Amino acid sequence: MNEAPLLIYPSAAQPAVYGALSWRDRAACGDTDPNLFFPDDGDVIGTERAKAVCASCPVARHCLSFALETNQVEGVWGGTTKGDRRRLRRQLLKEFREAG
Ligand code: SF4
Repeated sequence: MNEAPLLIYPSAAQPAVYGALSWRDRAACGDTDPNLFFPDDGDVIGTERAKAVCASCPVARHCLSFALETNQVEGVWGGTTKGDRRRLRRQLLKEFREAG
């Protein structure tokens, strides 16, 4: 991954970080039907539609960080599916363990 590392907020920081919810105010999906982001399993077109909105979202990394921190299992968050996030969690865990 060539981008800056994901910000995984420590749980103790959640109230301060999420209290203002400022990143949500800038979300590209603010006026979008939330159901778009919860396509049925195997709905490739629905998933791609959701990901297309996320691709233009200025707070996608915040959204993904939130999803990982709060263990959002279902839905598209930060342009990732639940499968994407499972793989990302495994990768992050591996890197964490290797870092000692
Ligand atoms: S990344 Fe996608 S789901 Fe997350 S706030 Fe942006 S548009 Fe909404």
